[in-house]
Amino acid sequence: MFPSLLPTYNRTEVAFVRGEGPYLFAEDGQRYLDFTAGIAVNAFGHANPRLVAALTEQAGKLWHTSNLFRVPGQEALSKRLTEVTFADTCFFTNSGVEACELAWKMARRYQFVSGHPEKFRIICFEGAFHGRTMAAIAAGGNPKYLEGFGPKVEGFDTIPPGDIEAVKAAIGPETAAILIEPIQGEGGVRVLTSEYLKGLRKLCDDNGLLLIFDEVQCGVGRTGKLFAYEWHGITPDIMPIAKAIGGGFPVGACLATAEAAKGMTAGTHGTTYGGNPLAMAVAKEALEMVLEPDFLPHVVKIANYLQQQLGQLLADHPTVFEEVRGQGLLLGLKMKVPNTEFVAVARKEQHLLLVGAGDNVIRLLPPLIIEEAHVREAVEKLSAAAKTFESNAK
Ligand SMILES: *Cc1c(COP(=O)(O)O)cnc(C)c1O
Repeated sequence: MFPSLLPTYNRTEVAFVRGEGPYLFAEDGQRYLDFTAGIAVNAFGHANPRLVAALTEQAGKLWHTSNLFRVPGQEALSKRLTEVTFADTCFFTNSGVEACELAWKMARRYQFVSGHPEKFRIICFEGAFHGRTMAAIAAGGNPKYLEGFGPKVEGFDTIPPGDIEAVKAAIGPETAAILIEPIQGEGGVRVLTSEYLKGLRKLCDDNGLLLIFDEVQCGVGRTGKLFAYEWHGITPDIMPIAKAIGGGFPVGACLATAEAAKGMTAGTHGTTYGGNPLAMAVAKEALEMVLEPDFLPHVVKIANYLQQQLGQLLADHPTVFEEVRGQGLLLGLKMKVPNTEFVAVARKEQHLLLVGAGDNVIRLLPPLIIEEAHVREAVEKLSAAAKTFESNAK
């Protein structure tokens, strides 16, 4: 019989019923250390009291009205987001991919109202991930995600990341924008250099293109800055965000400069649920928490500690781990053993939750609120899991 739940996920058996900070509790009461954080979503851990209060307070007042009316929560959050970023404006969505879709629509519309309707193509990169809609699988370019879903949405040109000459060569008379994750998450935690990202900014400026940074995964504090672009001394024109901004409540946003957004007039875009009062109450509280003076310095400090411990782990287990990658708490371990097997052993034998990525990498995406004791616990569990592979090899 076909499963009642569409079987598009290879789910593990375990189901969690409760969470507390960086820990999850399964149906059988067993405790797990969560270094997945809902794939970079639960930045404040589970059942964070401030987020619970923000949600329950709003839940008692009003859930939904639609964007036919003013939504005060959207006004407050957009004001705050534009104060603390490069952006002049933002639009709220329910997910990362919807924020990305708007970014691409906005880029095309910008060129259209600037007198360049012929410019509609977007340059994107191998190893990218932007979600699972028809346009997003075209932008991500991963053949595995495209197979059987053709024809591929037109207008996304995929090239290898890291080579500025390749980008130059790819720009044509129909190019509208360049789309990149400052750190590729899903693709294997690949960090792009400041020099390269600045090179993209310059190419956009010189050729009348918009620069889109997808910060759905790397944004909202994960690298130790509010947004990853801040490390590089440049700003994008458009920036989709999501994941951690809701701390676990589904919400995303597309941020943009006034210039980039100038084509998005009344009637050009819409959403039923996007920016609903529940989402806005949680996201506003989440943003205020990241902006507290001690929060980002804590992320930097604890990330340095974790990276240092991972360096030692590598030295201790040279036949299991190959390399540490990433920035802040968006970290990857390039593996010498199959990443999926390691993730399974860590979960089953050590009760440590990890998530795989492309290029045989495991991602470490802990909540941003972890302390040194959690880092030590995780590294001990990683080391114990590595020993399982070492003894199997003998
Ligand atoms: C997760 C992710 C998306 C898609 O977000 P959804 O909420 O799953 O639609 C887009 N871009 C990046 C970089 C992501 O990591």
